Amino acid sequence: MPRKNTDFCSFCGKAIKRTDFFVTGIAGIICEECTIALGNIHKDYCSQFGKRKKNELKFNLLKPVEIKEKLDEYVIGQEEAKKVISVAVYNHYKRLLHTAQDNNEVELEKSNILLVGETGTGKTLLAKTIARLLDVPFCIADATVFTEAGYVGEDVESILSRLLQAADYDVEKAERGIVFIDEIDKIARKGADNPSITRDVSGEGVQQAMLKLLEGTTVNVAPEGGRKHPEQKFTVVNTQNILFIASGAFNQMDKIIAERLNTNRIGYNQKNRVLDKNNMMQYITAQDLKSFGLIPELCGRFPMITYLSSLEREALRRILLEPKNALIKQYERLFIFDGIDLKFTEDTIDYIVDKTITLKLGARGLRSIMERIMTNAMYEFPSTGKKKIEIDRKYAESQMGN
Ligand code: ADP
Repeated sequence: MPRKNTDFCSFCGKAIKRTDFFVTGIAGIICEECTIALGNIHKDYCSQFGKRKKNELKFNLLKPVEIKEKLDEYVIGQEEAKKVISVAVYNHYKRLLHTAQDNNEVELEKSNILLVGETGTGKTLLAKTIARLLDVPFCIADATVFTEAGYVGEDVESILSRLLQAADYDVEKAERGIVFIDEIDKIARKGADNPSITRDVSGEGVQQAMLKLLEGTTVNVAPEGGRKHPEQKFTVVNTQNILFIASGAFNQMDKIIAERLNTNRIGYNQKNRVLDKNNMMQYITAQDLKSFGLIPELCGRFPMITYLSSLEREALRRILLEPKNALIKQYERLFIFDGIDLKFTEDTIDYIVDKTITLKLGARGLRSIMERIMTNAMYEFPSTGKKKIEIDRKYAESQMGN
């Protein structure tokens, strides 16, 4: 109660009447507005520095076999990679759930994953699909954005800012999301063992920067839309439980693997083990990554290494037709909206696959070929009034200019 009929708030100096809401203590009196403001400051502090009440950790954790079955609906082939990633992701989130429920301090060992494979083999697709299945936030970053300036540099902040955005600015949700780091091979250091890399030794400093992020660190991330006032608070994001999936093509890696395994020309190694010389990537180990130019500490942060095979004719054909969101299905559906029943003949599909192989962009090439073939069709067909249209090889060839 105010000591006099009218008292003054010890914080803001505003007059407080007897009938107002107020809080008194030995040192003074606080008005209603200041009480509310203090409550908000406290709430803010707790959410920034982890004193918040732990939200129930909720997400749909499927078993590895179920994860793999779901992946099969979107990713064609790549059986080994799908299996490895299903197990790694399951273990990662199982540990997270377990620790959240037990509330004990068992240290989590993360199963960050490294995917090796040529461009367009489905590395990004795999990571993206996994994140969608588990309903966890996901973002893609390029390894080349890491700078030697240090892990607290703007680059790392911008990656986590995107993750935070994908998590609708829910920090806890972001902290158990997935960050996909592309082109990790581009930051390998140039070494005697590694003739293919053009980057110089500075790669090592960049790798150290990335290492910090993988090891688990806290990064100050500016609020949505950047900091507009100096007093606006940063959001503190802890990377400890974020799952990192890195990927790279690692050109010429097969030579490094072959050298380690000491294969001779007819495909036997010293121990007379028969090796598939056409697919040396399947024998990749952390040792090969070191020879390529990744620092041992960074290799150590990727306990799961798997490879994606290059896509042959049959796989490309299946990619065109089978996945839930297969390109052919997408075009057919697009025309259904115009009341047109669109079909592609078998020899058109063969033609698209053949053309894609010549592009050497893996399945990535399918979309650009399809777009070239279909651009005029999408422009003209809706006005023709036709109900049934068939894209035959002759039409496809004419659109490709041959
Ligand atoms: P990468 O990351 O290996 O370079 P992406 O995952 O980005 O390749 O693949 C590019 C596109 O090609 C994907 O969006 C997808 O449409 C298609 N694609 C690639 N690999 C596969 C696959 N194994 N199964 C189905 N689609 C694939």
